[in-house]
Amino acid sequence: MLQALIDKLEQTRSLTREEWIALIRGRSPEAAEYLFRRARKIRVQHYGHDIYIRGLIEFTNYCKNDCYYCGIRKSNANAQRYRLSKEDILSCCDTGYRLGFRTFVLQGGEDGWFTDERLSSIISEIRRRWPDCAITLSAGERSRESYQMLFDAGADRYLLRHETYDSDHYGKLHPPSLSAAHRQKCLWDLKEIGYQTGTGFMTGSPYQTPENLADDMLFLARLNPQMVGIGPFIPHHETPFARQPAGTAELTLYMLGLIRLLIPAVLLPSTTALGTIVPDGREQGILAGANVVMPNLSPPQVREKYLLYDNKLCTGDEAAESLRSLKKRMEAIGCHITVERGDSLNR
Ligand code: SAH
Repeated sequence: MLQALIDKLEQTRSLTREEWIALIRGRSPEAAEYLFRRARKIRVQHYGHDIYIRGLIEFTNYCKNDCYYCGIRKSNANAQRYRLSKEDILSCCDTGYRLGFRTFVLQGGEDGWFTDERLSSIISEIRRRWPDCAITLSAGERSRESYQMLFDAGADRYLLRHETYDSDHYGKLHPPSLSAAHRQKCLWDLKEIGYQTGTGFMTGSPYQTPENLADDMLFLARLNPQMVGIGPFIPHHETPFARQPAGTAELTLYMLGLIRLLIPAVLLPSTTALGTIVPDGREQGILAGANVVMPNLSPPQVREKYLLYDNKLCTGDEAAESLRSLKKRMEAIGCHITVERGDSLNR
C-alpha cells in the first residue's frame, strides 16, 4: 500500500492531501528503505554522485524577531551578539574560495544594521572579486524592493524556509507579528524576481502533525523551488521551547526521500541539524536523496555565538578542517564533493 503510493509519487509527482497524510503517518522502516532506494536512483539520474558544497557565512546573530524555537531570538538576553564587518565577510569568502567553495551563503538574523545599501555593497564586492561564484542570501523577510535591489547587486539565490505552511501551526511557533501568509508572499516575490529560491521546514517542530507535513509537501509542489532545506527541530535552552522534544533523524530522512521524489532535480542539503542529532546524520541524509552539504565558513571566534539550537556541530573547527572531514565522509559512502557552482537543474 505504501509502496504503491511511493510509486505513484515517483510517476506522477502529485498526491492528494489524504495520500500524503497516509504516506507520512503510516511510514515504516520497510517503506523508508524502499523510498531511499528510489530517491538515490533519482538523485544519481540528475546529479550523479556529486555532492555540492556551500560555504556558510553566519554574518550576524542580531535579530529583531522572536521565533519561539530559535536561539538567536531577540529575547535571548544571554546570546552574545556579533556582526561581521564587510572586511570580515570578504575574508571568509577569500578563505572559502581557496578551499574550493564556489557558493557563498550569507545567513543571519534579521538585523536592521544591514540595510539594503550595506548589503548591496557587500554583495557587489563579492560579485566583483569572485565572478565565478554564486551568492546565496538567507537573511529573512524583506520587502520586494529590497529583494530586487539585492538581486540587482549580484545575489543569485535566496533561502527562506516557509517553516510550516499551516497558519495555525505557524502561529504556535512564532509571535503574532509574524505570519505564514507573509512568509509565503516573500517566497513568491523571490521567485518572480528570478532568484533560485530555497524553502523548507523543520521536522518534528513542536505541535507538528502529519497533516501539517502534508500541507508542506503540497506547498512545495506549488512553489516548485530550486532548493529545499529541512532539518530536525532541536531545542535551545534559552527559548520557550527549551523542554520540547527534538525532531528525529528517522522523520527527517523520510521527508528528504519524499522531497527528492516530488521535485527530482531539486538541490537538497543534508543539514547540520541532521548531523547534530545523529553522528552520521549527514551521510544518512545523502543516502536518503540529499546532494548538498553546507560547511561553516564563519570565523571560528563567532561560531559558538551563532547557536540556533543546542550542541550545534563543528563550532570549534576551522573551515579547512570541516571540509576535510566531510570529504572523507562523502567518499566513504561512494560520493564526492565537487568544486562547481552547482546551479539547480530544477528550472
Ligand atoms: N533569519 C533567517 C535565517 C536564519 S535561521 C530566516 O529567518 O530565514 C535559519 C533556519 O534555521 C530557520 O529557517 C529555521 O528553520 C532553522 N532553525 C532555527 N532554530 C532552529 C532550531 N531550534 N532547531 C532546528 N532548526 C532551527
